[in-house]
Amino acid sequence: MTANRLFGTNGIRGEVNKLLTPALSLSIGRAVGTVVRRSSPPGTEVLVATDTRYSGDMLKAAICAGLLSTGCQAVDTGMLPTPALQYGVKKSTAAMGLIITASHNPPEYNGIKCVAGDGTETTQDEEKEIEEIYFSEEFTLAPWNAVLGLLSRSHLTHRYTEDILAQVDRELIASKRFGVVVDCANGATVVSAPKLLESLGTKLVTLNAQSSGGFPGHPSEPTEDNLRDLMTMVKNTGAAMGLAHDGDGDRAIFVDERGEFLYGDKTLALVAKHIVMENGGGKVVTAINTSNVLEDVVKEAGGEVIYTPIGSPIVARVMIKEKAVFGGEENGGLIFPKFQYCRDGGMTSAAILEILANRERSLSELMGEMPEYHLCKLKFKYPPHLREKILEKYLCLVKDKNPLTLDGIKVLDDTGWVLVRPSGTETIYRIQVEDSDPVRANKKADDTKRVLLEIVEGLG
Ligand code: MG
Repeated sequence: MTANRLFGTNGIRGEVNKLLTPALSLSIGRAVGTVVRRSSPPGTEVLVATDTRYSGDMLKAAICAGLLSTGCQAVDTGMLPTPALQYGVKKSTAAMGLIITASHNPPEYNGIKCVAGDGTETTQDEEKEIEEIYFSEEFTLAPWNAVLGLLSRSHLTHRYTEDILAQVDRELIASKRFGVVVDCANGATVVSAPKLLESLGTKLVTLNAQSSGGFPGHPSEPTEDNLRDLMTMVKNTGAAMGLAHDGDGDRAIFVDERGEFLYGDKTLALVAKHIVMENGGGKVVTAINTSNVLEDVVKEAGGEVIYTPIGSPIVARVMIKEKAVFGGEENGGLIFPKFQYCRDGGMTSAAILEILANRERSLSELMGEMPEYHLCKLKFKYPPHLREKILEKYLCLVKDKNPLTLDGIKVLDDTGWVLVRPSGTETIYRIQVEDSDPVRANKKADDTKRVLLEIVEGLG
């Protein structure tokens, strides 16, 4: 955390009782309440939810106390996946929502993410306003007789899952009786995913479907390594697919009927293809680190891809502006604008089942229809003061190749692309290379890393 920054790319994140203390949470509650009260009357609602982390209740109590002190009506909505809280905010008169989660980070972490009144993640400007009040401590506190009691509301999960069901052809999906294995990672989707998938008539097997803030099943990031049990269980049960959510349920990652792990890009492309075809064209928004597979299938279906800097709030805001038909990130965070403008793991699971039901082909066959690309990722640490200089020098070297400078530097060629970008949270540079040939992808990544290390050395 720098002197005047609290929010990173994913809200506030840190270790419990180190950065994420009750004192910080109390002040965040007071700062958010102060912002809300600038434009809303006393008693305006702010919804607060947690994931399954042990520290959730501790931080929630402090945040709610802070909100109540400003005259806001804090509403405890219990344990919820992030998209369920976002949907709840969108569908209510609440001016904001706060979700206490650190998504896929280790169990000793927690975080606070702010949601605007329309259910989207707050913009950087809105976060800056909260930060300014937090650091200046200029809280607007309510007079004694305007302080309200805490409200609780417990039906948000039900509303969320029921409204997802209304988005898809529930009868068609149910008629197929798909075998599905879901891995909730002991995270927030334990309250929603089994119910949703059972309502879609699946023959369901659950893994890690009990709430536990220690993530005893596996770390809550849905990587291939963490999903070995899921892959095995899909094969052993003959299921049509496996599905895993991250700790707060805004992402969904899939395993095909052969037990093969599927990267998020491919799911994004599969859903994009069907939505664009159904729509007879349209815009699809994604960040610049998404695979070319998306652009290939969207173009073929008659649509157009718009690229943004990395970060789901940016993707969501551009989708609103461009009236996009679909959007999302390569990490399994898909955004369905007909439902809501945020990444939604539950909605993603229902959409994939609907595609399986409609197409009457297996998930591996559907994935096999798409072009194959190979991704190679490398990273290296750099001296913090050279962050910008490295990028400037690298830009000079590649400037005749018409690079994109939306976020880092992306150089495209006939077979793929190279993206060089400093991390938003650590002093590392990330190199991502995609190519239709795996050997070429690795070579390009190695070459790029060597060039960058030479730049660092030259800058001394
Ligand atoms: Mg997440």
